[in-house]
Amino acid sequence: MKAVQYRTVGGTPEVVQLPVPVPAPGQVLLRMTAAGVCHSDIAVMSMPAEQLSFPLPLTLGHEGVGTVAAVGDGVVAVEVGDAVAVYGPWGCGICAKCAEGKENYCLRARDLGIFPPGLGAPGAMAEYMIVDDIRHLVPLGDLDPVQAVPLTDAGLTPYHAIKRSLPKLVPGSTAVVIGTGGLGHVAIQILRALSPARVIALDVSEEKLALAREVGAHEAILSDAQSVAAVRKLTEGKGAEAVFDFVGAPPTAATAGGCVAVEGDVTIVGLGGGSLPVGFGTTPYEASVTAPYWGSRGELTEVLDLARSGVISVHTETYGIDDAPTAYQHLHDGTVRGRAVILP
Ligand code: NAD
Ligand code: ZN
Ligand code: ZN
Repeated sequence: MKAVQYRTVGGTPEVVQLPVPVPAPGQVLLRMTAAGVCHSDIAVMSMPAEQLSFPLPLTLGHEGVGTVAAVGDGVVAVEVGDAVAVYGPWGCGICAKCAEGKENYCLRARDLGIFPPGLGAPGAMAEYMIVDDIRHLVPLGDLDPVQAVPLTDAGLTPYHAIKRSLPKLVPGSTAVVIGTGGLGHVAIQILRALSPARVIALDVSEEKLALAREVGAHEAILSDAQSVAAVRKLTEGKGAEAVFDFVGAPPTAATAGGCVAVEGDVTIVGLGGGSLPVGFGTTPYEASVTAPYWGSRGELTEVLDLARSGVISVHTETYGIDDAPTAYQHLHDGTVRGRAVILP
């Protein structure tokens, strides 16, 4: 089978031939129908060897949907031909967090050497993939695979982040979305669907700002040294009750801190190496800052249901598996509109 692998530190993704894996007892073999391209993969491929916590080569892809191709002994709850989405943040399955469906916050995954597919375990950017346990599968139903696959991360991660702040997003409130790429353009739609807040989007190019407006942002403004003043002006000095930073670089984290209202939330989602000090004189009174990771299994079900209700439309660019390296190059260059999706 064809697979897209990151093979050597500092290298670029390569399309390689691998044997089709065979499911062991309890495992499920999926024939992949779509795999998403996330900026976190670029972050992984930029790490020096000492920061990588798993060996190479790595089959990429932590957003995956497929159909069940074969099941290992003992698997009864899915059947060959079922369409499923893969819940990516795999945990141990029995710790207190996993028991709540929050495998993204598994207390033991690291110690046990359990990694998400595409971020340590063989991923979704291949013709076939092994899923270790049926609890990592969510029924897809009649959702279109290309539309649905970004929801497993580019939908789930903003959904989890936004859900935390919903009590603050009352009528008259403002939410700021920094970075309107794969995650950000879905975040805008989730905010519009779940809250009455006014949404202000920030990005660095007119093309991205146009997409932000198209998917529902009330205001879309350039992200630069003037952004804080612009947000303050739009909110009559008050600032935003919730700021979601899908870049997470030092300048955007600073912008997030500058935009937030008294008692507001700053949520840093992007892995850009930025941080935000909290303290008297640095952030408004009772503002809180958090950096969440992905989302729970239950929340993935909710995101898929939200998509089924028709209120989220992911903008996608599709590529054949042989063109996956080009998709990564486009994402790196900032020219992807919405999410790049590989058709394995
Ligand atoms: P993306 O490349 O699709 O989108 C990033 C967007 O940010 C682009 O539109 C880009 O133009 C914009 N941008 C870049 N610099 C900017 C700036 N200074 N100000 C405003 N906008 C700017 O990336 P993505 O796949 O959506 O991922 C976004 C970030 O979230 C990445 O850092 C990724 O690693 C991270 N991520 C985190 C989690 C998590 O669980 N915390 C999950 C998925 C992705
Ligand atoms: Zn991701
Ligand atoms: Zn666990």
